[in-house]
Amino acid sequence: MSSKLSFRSALFILALLATEPLIPAQSQPFHFDPSDPRESVPDDGPKPPFVSSARRLLTAPELKDAPDDWISNSLDWVNFILTHYQPALVEAPVRRAAMIRLDDVLHIESAPRKPIVQQYYKARLEAALREIETTRVPTGLRIWKLYNHGFFVRTASVSIAFDIVPGTREPGFAMPQEWIERLAAQADVLFISHQHGDHANPAVARAFLALRKPVVVPDDVWTAEPTLAKAVTRLSRNTGPAQTLPLANGRNLTVVPYPGHQGPRILVNVTLVTTPEGFTIVQTGDQSGSEAPGSDFDWLAQIGRDHKVDILMPNCWANGLGRMVRGVNPALVITGHENEMGHKVDHREDYTQTYTRLFPIRYPAIVMTWGESFHYQRPVR
Ligand SMILES: [Zn+2]
Ligand SMILES: [Zn+2]
Repeated sequence: MSSKLSFRSALFILALLATEPLIPAQSQPFHFDPSDPRESVPDDGPKPPFVSSARRLLTAPELKDAPDDWISNSLDWVNFILTHYQPALVEAPVRRAAMIRLDDVLHIESAPRKPIVQQYYKARLEAALREIETTRVPTGLRIWKLYNHGFFVRTASVSIAFDIVPGTREPGFAMPQEWIERLAAQADVLFISHQHGDHANPAVARAFLALRKPVVVPDDVWTAEPTLAKAVTRLSRNTGPAQTLPLANGRNLTVVPYPGHQGPRILVNVTLVTTPEGFTIVQTGDQSGSEAPGSDFDWLAQIGRDHKVDILMPNCWANGLGRMVRGVNPALVITGHENEMGHKVDHREDYTQTYTRLFPIRYPAIVMTWGESFHYQRPVR
């Protein structure tokens, strides 16, 4: 009996072997688990044929190009919606439609080189700059999202900038240096998370330093640039106790520059700052890497135990985003780093993915685009 069965099995296997080469690779079934958080997906990961990259599986397929009038109407509509439906803890659904349309436009590979998109970017940043120049914050905290992972945070007594860069290397997709100088004039300090060009920019640092505003960087940033190396502030990277950072306006910040990393080697300051009013905010830079015991997750998991964090500004694509958020346990999450236009589209993580990744984390969260701001008052929960 067993020999009969194995003969049948052998026939079956032969039949399989005979038919397998006839099935083209892209029509083989693609298996997907909807609870897969799609973090750290490799560029050449398995994918169904209708998406250009495994990394883009949960974002609608991108346009290769589009007519200018479609782009122009889309961007005008996005601005109209965002003007009338401001960032809020309970988000109007039409805002999400606008953010996804923005993703559609910004995911055209050539978008950073399109004058119409460059103009849109600069108009939003210029409007934010004018708002920063004319806004006092007598109570609570106002947080502007600038380009990429750049934030500008203002309370009644201090203004704190994080990872300000002009834009991309594309000359038309960048803020003029004059705007950077005006931003520096509005701020009291600049925290730079790490050395990569989408977070650290020497011209921005010089603008802050020229006005005697401290520029705080990790140990490996600009070590080969003697004038900058001497002028920047390198706080000792550790998990506490908090260090005092005196500002030129006579106020002090308390800072914990947590010793983070991007991958195994790049130093990333995960900066926790407490303002004189007692607001505590954390910006993570490109914090990412191993989740094994002994990794940065050991201390990320304790931040919420040691500090009552108001706002966490994580990189939207961080691996273990849920672990990071639960460890910091903030009252509010405001993500950064969406649509970094210096990246190819499959690495241009978008607002669509941010919404998808935030959903299972179940923390109060706000998704904003370039130049938008939110007025935070305690408590939000
Ligand atoms: Zn980086
Ligand atoms: Zn980055």
